[in-house]
Amino acid sequence: MGGYGSTRWRWHRKKMTAEQCVKLDAAHWTRLGILRDGIIKTGWQGAIRYHVNTTDGHHQRVHLTYGLGREHLDYSVFLETTQPQFGGVRWWFRCPTCRRRIQKLFLPPRASQFGCRHCHNLSYATRNQSPKDRLMERARAIRMSLGGSVSLFDPFPPRPTGMRWKTYWSLEEKYERYNQTSLRLAVEWLDRMQKPRTLGAAKRKVLGTSARESASEKSEPEGW
Ligand SMILES: [Zn+2]
Repeated sequence: MGGYGSTRWRWHRKKMTAEQCVKLDAAHWTRLGILRDGIIKTGWQGAIRYHVNTTDGHHQRVHLTYGLGREHLDYSVFLETTQPQFGGVRWWFRCPTCRRRIQKLFLPPRASQFGCRHCHNLSYATRNQSPKDRLMERARAIRMSLGGSVSLFDPFPPRPTGMRWKTYWSLEEKYERYNQTSLRLAVEWLDRMQKPRTLGAAKRKVLGTSARESASEKSEPEGW
């Protein structure tokens, strides 16, 4: 475990991270008004077309339609609600594979069906990621939600058939912003590395914050 500090390794290691996936979030959908009781609603999230039908209390569901290369996917995911202690309604997906009740559905690169974190064997990388890496992951997720490649150096993917131009342009705009900002952070980081004085300050800061950790590590004498 651990030791693979570089982005390259993180990207190529076997365990996929949640950030690399296209994600459907029931809580986010609730805030957007996509999940509500007694409605029929159709729309897009990226290149994923959803058709929500919650009019039948026993079979509330969302129908998902999307293309992956030549494959055309088309299936339903069941929805459920619970009543939180402090009021309101909380919406959930049922994982199509294991039937777990979950808040987020994930579609990893190279997978064809959405599923829960457990079914796709995903880890969370966010906690160990720098802001630059997080922005790059977000930019990648946008590319892949449009059926594009993983590489941020490839051209932005074309608009999927049926997607509104407005949606496409707003995704492209977000993508550019994430991409540019991550690039700027990378340049700044390199810049700092090349200035000895700033490096010293950064080093002091790092040492200062982790002083307790290193102290406890050193309290175990070597060679014991
Ligand atoms: Zn599952």
